[in-house]
Amino acid sequence: KPALTKIGAQMSNLTGVRAIMKDIVETLRASAGQELYNLSAGNPLILPEVEQLWRDCTADLLASEEYGEVVCRYGSSQGYAPLINAIAKDFNQRYGLNITDRNVLITAGSQSLYFYAANAFGGYTVDGDLKQIVLPLSPDYTGYGGVCLFPEALVAYKPTLDIDAPAHRFKYRPDFTQLSITEQTGCVIFSRPCNPTGNVLTNDEVHKIAALAAPYNVPVLIDSAYAPPFPALNFTEMTPVFGENILHCMSLSKAGLPGERIGVVIGDEQQIQVLESFQTNVGIHSSRYGQAIAARAIESGALANIAEAVIRPFYQKKFDVLESTLDAAMPKDLPWFLHRGEGAIFAWLWLQDLPMTDWEFYQELKKVGVIAVPGSTFFPGLQEEWEHKHQCLRISLTGSDQEIETGMLRLAKVAEQVYQRA
Ligand code: PLP
Repeated sequence: KPALTKIGAQMSNLTGVRAIMKDIVETLRASAGQELYNLSAGNPLILPEVEQLWRDCTADLLASEEYGEVVCRYGSSQGYAPLINAIAKDFNQRYGLNITDRNVLITAGSQSLYFYAANAFGGYTVDGDLKQIVLPLSPDYTGYGGVCLFPEALVAYKPTLDIDAPAHRFKYRPDFTQLSITEQTGCVIFSRPCNPTGNVLTNDEVHKIAALAAPYNVPVLIDSAYAPPFPALNFTEMTPVFGENILHCMSLSKAGLPGERIGVVIGDEQQIQVLESFQTNVGIHSSRYGQAIAARAIESGALANIAEAVIRPFYQKKFDVLESTLDAAMPKDLPWFLHRGEGAIFAWLWLQDLPMTDWEFYQELKKVGVIAVPGSTFFPGLQEEWEHKHQCLRISLTGSDQEIETGMLRLAKVAEQVYQRA
């Protein structure tokens, strides 16, 4: 084994959900013969209409004179100009903005964008001060856990819980009595809609967070990987929020292009330049082929249309199946609470006073052939002990209707048994 630096050791650790995926892959491998209901995947499904869109855009690119220029040459780190222009034009029209090409950066997937931001704005300053990366509402995207070269910079805040006990539903809200954004804050990040919970922070909540950060010129990264206009995986009304210190971050992954690694950030020109230079050093630029087909799909409006007409209803229906199955099958007297399904491709289940850990519950589910992700991996940056962290489960909406239904029926039975045994 090579000797590793502190950063080397840290970066070679599997973090968050990737660590559990290893266990899941091994379970799937060992399951030969047994039917498994795998509701753990974060990988979006291939929807035929979406695949066709990308095929058509590819055919158009292949037939154009642009082809050689796109794939046979390096380009600018800021991104492929036709894609940048298409996004600026689309957002100006759609949201009444006034952005130019200087306000847009294309990154190699949005994951790398969070890596650039976390380390450009978070970590130690030249004076040795630690600038924090603040996650205002925990749980949130597990991928934020691995992006900081200085993990001590990551700080997450416990939410408050809005509980509708008779309906067995709940919703997280930012706890503004605790949330602290000061001159020690480097940047703020949250996903909206949220992976893993499907939560959508309200416009008021977003404005409030942005207003707390504004006096310190702290960038607020709004991870819009599931937001409108594409992939438009919001099941509740929501409008993106823009503002001087807001970096509006998007991804084409849930709009059918995860393999091409395309992230987009819209924001203040100076902040964009910082991130662009970071990207030059890390990987020069994102795939130009992916950018060129994305430019076509956005310019024509086809991507936003297909997101609304195909992608959103597809996953919304999955959530309906999950919700109605749980409502029918879960014992009424158990303290189970499903997070309001406001978007994304997951459901989030809280089993209050669960008489075992989420990891043990995950093992119990495996015994009946159901795989979901234990919730404790989705609290990056939240150091304090909180029993709630070990009482949740993320259930993917990427299964078939039948898989989701059977999976939830079995889960209800397992839940009944483990509470009874206690
Ligand atoms: N942000 C959120 C909330 C996600 O769920 C994901 C992927 O699952 C990402 C960011 C990273 O996506 P990508 O790097 O493919 O753009």
